[in-house]
Amino acid sequence: MTKNIFESDQIGFDVAIIGGGPAGLTAAIYTSRANLKTLVLAGEKWGGQLILTTTVENFPGFPEGIQGPELMEKMKAQAEKFGSQIVFETVTSIRRSDANRFTLSANRSQYNARSVIVATGADTVWLGLPNEQRLIGHGVSSCAPCDAFFFRDKKVAVVGGGDAAMEEALVLTKFASEVTIIHRRDTFRASKIMQERVLSHPKIKVLWNTEVIDVLGEGNVTGLSLQTEGNNSTLPFDGLFVAVGHKPNSQIFGDLVETDEKGYIIKSKTPGLFIAGDVQDHTYRQAVTAAAFGTMAAMQVEKWLENQSAS
Ligand code: NDP
Repeated sequence: MTKNIFESDQIGFDVAIIGGGPAGLTAAIYTSRANLKTLVLAGEKWGGQLILTTTVENFPGFPEGIQGPELMEKMKAQAEKFGSQIVFETVTSIRRSDANRFTLSANRSQYNARSVIVATGADTVWLGLPNEQRLIGHGVSSCAPCDAFFFRDKKVAVVGGGDAAMEEALVLTKFASEVTIIHRRDTFRASKIMQERVLSHPKIKVLWNTEVIDVLGEGNVTGLSLQTEGNNSTLPFDGLFVAVGHKPNSQIFGDLVETDEKGYIIKSKTPGLFIAGDVQDHTYRQAVTAAAFGTMAAMQVEKWLENQSAS
């Protein structure tokens, strides 16, 4: 049976932040510094996409670069320093219990809060290859703007046929010597303009009707095992960029929010519930933009709670 750890305190927290990535933890830094009693439900796999990354070189303030997990540890420590309570539980349901309170059920406990920030992010859809997860950060990536720099003069592959794959390939051409897009069909679904840019680019070639069977390499990626119209082959590559889509973590919010056809949150439909980060952003998807969205949501919460107290 789940227990309510704040049974004696019917309101619980001023704000519950769902998500422990850059958006959620930045929001927590701001709300706790604003003296709001802050709970972060960071999930069992806290840290968002950055926890899967190796070196981060584009987060301002770290000219030497910083390891993704270390950056997330620092954000967590900063939120805790100002009094945020962080629990590593996954929220399974949320409801507005009355005009002044949300009730959140997580796997071990139940929590109450006057306001909520949804910062649940979006997960990369991976290919499910036998060696894919092991080589993430060692040649396997899902973010060219983050990692292209590490592939200077190298040969890389991009999997996918949508706009994201086209964009990843174009970003990679700035560093890599050769970019190969591997697509499972014989036509791209990307917008025409992006297709034209890719197909006319001297550094990009396309392997049509080809599926990736596995990614090869011990310490780092050395090649790909492929299947083209029933024929197996192995080709050397230094990197694999997977761009077959993202899945926003918006399922549990139901009618509290409005989503688009892919599940990205367009807006909150619920007073007191605010949205931040990649769960509402399929365009930028950067740690620094997620942190900025977290800041905005935190400031909106502060204002909203002030108005509630005043009325
Ligand atoms: P999309 O859903 O548009 O494309 C996903 C691609 O991945 C498809 O080509 C699909 O193949 C392929 N794919 C899916 N699953 C697999 C798999 N298991 N194995 C191999 N290939 C697979 O996703 P995107 O992330 O590209 O784009 C999402 C949205 O964001 C779109 O609306 C897009 O327009 C937008 N966007 C816009 C950008 C821009 O305008 N600059 C940049 C990035 C995204 P198939 O075609 O066979 O289904």
